[in-house]
Amino acid sequence: MISIMLDLKPNCECCNIDLPPDSTEAMICSFECTFCAACADQHLNGKCPNCGGELVSRPRRPADKLARHPASPARVFKPEGCAQS
Ligand SMILES: [Zn+2]
Ligand SMILES: [Zn+2]
Repeated sequence: MISIMLDLKPNCECCNIDLPPDSTEAMICSFECTFCAACADQHLNGKCPNCGGELVSRPRRPADKLARHPASPARVFKPEGCAQS
């Protein structure tokens, strides 16, 4: 069986704050654009600036699963997309 996994990105695209896999502050859209809760709320009105999709809380990955399926190391930082207030 092939399972498609979420890409757990390590930071917020807007403010570059760290969002570890067990963070409760991480918000994602359906394309896995990743933001912190503060940016999603205060700058983005709950909408992804890249695709216009809704941002929802990212589920946390259990530590035993993280060992086999680690979070993505690739930071995405696009502050220009978050300029609208
Ligand atoms: Zn942020
Ligand atoms: Zn998006």
